[in-house]
Amino acid sequence: MGASISMGHGAQKVFDKLENGKRVVSVIGDSTFFHTGINSLMTVIYNGSNTINVILDNRVTAMTGHQENPGSGKNACGGPAPVTDIEDIVRALGFKNIRTINPNDLDEVEDALNESLALDEPSVIITRWPCALKKLSAMDMEEFKGVFSNKNYIEEEVCIGCRKCVRSGCPALVFNKEKKKTAIDLLQCVGCDVCTQLCPTGAIRKKVD
Ligand code: SF4
Ligand code: SF4
Repeated sequence: MGASISMGHGAQKVFDKLENGKRVVSVIGDSTFFHTGINSLMTVIYNGSNTINVILDNRVTAMTGHQENPGSGKNACGGPAPVTDIEDIVRALGFKNIRTINPNDLDEVEDALNESLALDEPSVIITRWPCALKKLSAMDMEEFKGVFSNKNYIEEEVCIGCRKCVRSGCPALVFNKEKKKTAIDLLQCVGCDVCTQLCPTGAIRKKVD
């Protein structure tokens, strides 16, 4: 937990010595960033590394039980707390190349990664989107208006069974081998639209109740 940035930094130093041109992308969650990622990121900049560091800010300590963290606006007992802004911290550590993006916008994700890869300097990409299982706070509802209020469905006649959507890894997408068509499990769909961007035929539509 929280070791990715420092391990990535070490690996990058080895790759640089081998002169193999490989770039390391380190990935860490928001709460682990607060826990041990800050000091690792400080070491990246202090030691002149050029790693790409992606901070997945899903607005909660999701993996270990949905505890609050310094970025969530609530303290450990659920009372109000100051919000520690990840971008401000990263800037204070000395990073110049920082982007905060919507991880569901695949073009934006690709553009941010390409931009970072083109640099010979360290960079930070912060992806900001709430965990689908989070009990949204008033702050979340203000920031992510309408989030999780939609679902998508697949127009069966338009689906050509290419499975490009399925390869996104979303568990709501179910491929029917006999029919050679994909369907969306509405119980699991959170309407993020990632699959919509992958479909070549426009078969994935918004469900309107
Ligand atoms: S909209 Fe998002 S959650 Fe729903 S099926 Fe597509 S990828 Fe999965
Ligand atoms: S990407 Fe579109 S056409 Fe391909 S399987 Fe999914 S819904 Fe069907």
